[in-house]
Amino acid sequence: AELDTLDIIVLSVILLGTLAYFTKGKYWGITKDPYAASFANANGVKAGKTRNILEKMEESGKNCIVFYGSQTGTAEDYASRLAKEGKSRFGLETMVADLEDYDYENLDALPNDKLIVFVLATYGEGEPTDNAVDFYEFITGDDVSFSESREAPLDNLNYVAFGLGNNTYEHYNSMVRNVDKALQKLGANRLGVAGEGDDGAGTMEEDFLAWKDPMWAAVAEKMGLEEREAVYEPIFGIVDREGLTKDSVEVYVGEPNKMHLEGTAKGPFNAHNPYIAPITESRELFSVKDRHCLHMEVDISGSNLTYQTGDHIAIWPTNPGEEVDRFLNVIGLADKRNDVIGVKALEPTAKVPFPTPTTYDAIVRYHMEICSPVSRQFLATLAAFAPDEATKAEMTKLGGDKDYFHEKISVHHLNIAQVLSSVSKGQTWKNIPFSALIEGVTKLQPRYYSISSSSLVQPKKISITAVVESQMIPGRGDPFRGVATNYLFALKQKQNGDPNPEPFGLTYEITGPRNKYDGIHVPVHVRHSNFKLPSDPSKPVILIGPGTGVAPFRAFVQERAKQAADGENVGRTLLFFGCRKKNEDFLYASQWEEFKKALGDKFELITAFSREGAKKVYVQHRLKERAEEVNELLQKKAYFYVCGDAANMAREVNAVLAQIIAEQRGISEAKAEEIVKNMRAANQYQEDVW
Ligand code: FAD
Repeated sequence: AELDTLDIIVLSVILLGTLAYFTKGKYWGITKDPYAASFANANGVKAGKTRNILEKMEESGKNCIVFYGSQTGTAEDYASRLAKEGKSRFGLETMVADLEDYDYENLDALPNDKLIVFVLATYGEGEPTDNAVDFYEFITGDDVSFSESREAPLDNLNYVAFGLGNNTYEHYNSMVRNVDKALQKLGANRLGVAGEGDDGAGTMEEDFLAWKDPMWAAVAEKMGLEEREAVYEPIFGIVDREGLTKDSVEVYVGEPNKMHLEGTAKGPFNAHNPYIAPITESRELFSVKDRHCLHMEVDISGSNLTYQTGDHIAIWPTNPGEEVDRFLNVIGLADKRNDVIGVKALEPTAKVPFPTPTTYDAIVRYHMEICSPVSRQFLATLAAFAPDEATKAEMTKLGGDKDYFHEKISVHHLNIAQVLSSVSKGQTWKNIPFSALIEGVTKLQPRYYSISSSSLVQPKKISITAVVESQMIPGRGDPFRGVATNYLFALKQKQNGDPNPEPFGLTYEITGPRNKYDGIHVPVHVRHSNFKLPSDPSKPVILIGPGTGVAPFRAFVQERAKQAADGENVGRTLLFFGCRKKNEDFLYASQWEEFKKALGDKFELITAFSREGAKKVYVQHRLKERAEEVNELLQKKAYFYVCGDAANMAREVNAVLAQIIAEQRGISEAKAEEIVKNMRAANQYQEDVW
């Protein structure tokens, strides 16, 4: 029989699809992530690595794999800590793996002497993290199917699970809960309880520590493991590269990847590959002495980056010189800071978290989160390398005693170098293997900002609205200062004429590695979000954005003003903004007036100044005052948006909205809460909170 054209097309599509399926992982990973291959090679792993987890475990002799679903790096960090602990305490042959790197159709073939650990962060509105989307969809899918068909396909699978969540969000820890439920349904065998860490209550680390000991006991019993005296085994080998100096062309002095080193950086720009973007404008938004809020414009026209109104921009910070010095001093490497080293994974499954050869200075300045909170478990690990017995005893106590640790470390916001030097009374810690620091200090993370410009108005220029993080800590002389926002502050000062900015005594390598960021550049990438205006501009919107929570709403209102100016029918736009005082921190006060010129009565700004009257007034109070109109708009299918503080404001706004609906419609609060829930499910209620 003859094949007609349609048959040929169908057959070709099937053939291509099949080819694509079988080559997935072999070639796809490389096209998606062009420099991943150079990373992988540097780590001694051949490019074209397998996506078959069984094969991977077999060829590398592993019996325990720790998967992570991570957005900001914490879950990844916990995963590597669990892998290390499983190895050092129980002799498990562990490896850490990114959920994105494997396929799951053959999980049913995993023998039951293996263990799978899931460390899963929940992101935003109960969503999986970017790297866990495929796994999540697979495992929770209605028609999940495996290579063999058994009634309980995963009855051989032993697993443990820990979730990272935030109780201020509606879908608290939904990732770990849903994955756990799905695995149970498929017959998998969970050891211990599925742990849940709560960032909202600030107890993440302690929740993790409290979960893991009973979990290990359950694992040891099930797998017949004997606990042994934990011995530290380095994961990375450090080699001096004596022939090289920091000026040698192949040495990374802060460049994020090979293309950046060679000066051939090109897109796609993403979480592995930032675009070095010019900052075209930066200014102060507050008019009060001790608090600062920055407005910055980042030019993406030289890149193939795009954004849509409501997206996030990620800023890649560098650490302040003072903290880099403190860190290198306390570990006794200040004199060797510019020595060139190679770092090699001693384990085929471990990844060096930065490109090499490089210098100690570059690693600490560009790749390590040296200012962040210290983990109690890490102090216990470092006790073994203390310069004397008294220091060792104190470190062991800090590592083991939760309350003592809280009182001595957490409340003072100390970072790792501050802890080390205060515990050792200024002695240097020369015995810490550098590998232990690479393993124990998190990778420096980009910070996200809600884009405060409209892509309709300025498609190639992204605005940022960032408050400079500075907190007075009781009992501490100097305020705590945030990493990224103070770096941005220095960039702003430089742009406004200060050749050597030193905000609050902090200095930065502001021109970047090899001066590649000179002329006021900052490394960025864009993260797309679901926080979006209705596609039909005639729909009314209610926007709740106190403080920097107003950032995306500046973009929303800017966009609607443009649409109105272009003659489109724009719906009512109610913006609730709150701050302390009208003449101190009222963001974009004059711009709202300009937008109003285009929008007329369609736009109304409702302000709440909390420190002007005798009683504190917040946005949720103003919302309540406008109950009738808010309800009417909602009945006309208005979209409702909340942005800013997740801990208190977003939750209270949710509660007030339910009260408004109950009162105005004469229904019970329970029924009104149900309506709010349904609005969320239908995307009519959207949050962008942090
Ligand atoms: P960091 O150094 O990261 O410190 C942040 C906080 O961590 C500190 O305040 C402190 O509470 C804690 N911390 C850090 N180190 C320690 C320590 N050693 N001990 C104890 N506690 C410590 N911010 C804006 O200003 N505008 C926005 O539009 C905006 N949008 C965002 C959108 C999203 C989706 C997200 C996730 C966040 C957003 N943020 C926004 C927040 C922003 O990403 C940063 O978290 C913020 O700017 C602080 O960054 P930083 O590096 O200056 O502070």
